[in-house]
Amino acid sequence: MATNEDQKQTESGRHQEVGHKSLLQSDALYQYILETSVFPREHEAMKELREITAKHPWNLMTTSADEGQFLSMLLKLINAKNTMEIGVYTGYSLLATALAIPEDGKILAMDINKENYELGLPVIKKAGVDHKIDFREGPALPVLDELVKDEKNHGSYDFIFVDADKDNYINYHKRLIDLVKVGGVIGYDNTLWNGSVVAPPDAPLRKYVRYYRDFVLELNKALAVDPRIEICMLPVGDGITICRRIK
Ligand code: SAM
Ligand code: CA
Repeated sequence: MATNEDQKQTESGRHQEVGHKSLLQSDALYQYILETSVFPREHEAMKELREITAKHPWNLMTTSADEGQFLSMLLKLINAKNTMEIGVYTGYSLLATALAIPEDGKILAMDINKENYELGLPVIKKAGVDHKIDFREGPALPVLDELVKDEKNHGSYDFIFVDADKDNYINYHKRLIDLVKVGGVIGYDNTLWNGSVVAPPDAPLRKYVRYYRDFVLELNKALAVDPRIEICMLPVGDGITICRRIK
């Protein structure tokens, strides 16, 4: 039987609100991961960028430190060199990528907002990795269309991180599947959408959470049956679906 203490733990400890950086059972467990394995090993530039971003009004959008560490590990495991990122914001995941890939590695980075990227850019420069980044201001879809037109780009990306407008993820996937190499990886971020993917129809969700939820649900369904990829949905951050192209 649940005790009062359990009840209190459930109410206070579970992440109900958008903005929590984990879908774990309790804040304490998440803090444990951060303090034991993430913060002590976080690159000093990543820490600096995280602290700058924390002061920005839209800081809810940033990639969490544990997810940054995960991306870095994944990039190194697959020896990623030619990469792409859709949705940069102040650049936390971008910096994680830039630090993880080799000196001659590349990141095509896209965002409709350059100002936020410029907030993080001095830190990226200080870390000595800005030469790896080709930042394009503007919507990602037309850039992808251009890339797809040229056969040379097909199968040329080792890793692509998608962390932008959720209502376009399916459109991105249609193009990215040609651009990523066989054996390469696409990571779709926020695929658990703050847990709202399992919220009952009458759940009191914030307007934008409710709006994007249907797109996230559609994406998840589409990825689950796509024979061109193997997938793994991880409860890191707000959920990330790792897709490995197999044909
Ligand atoms: N990966 C980032 C990080 O680690 O901080 C967070 C990205 S944030 C969740 C989403 C970003 O997508 C925003 O900066 C927003 O401007 C950008 N965005 C929205 N629509 C876009 C589009 N159509 N094309 C490119 N970027 C877009
Ligand atoms: Ca995200």
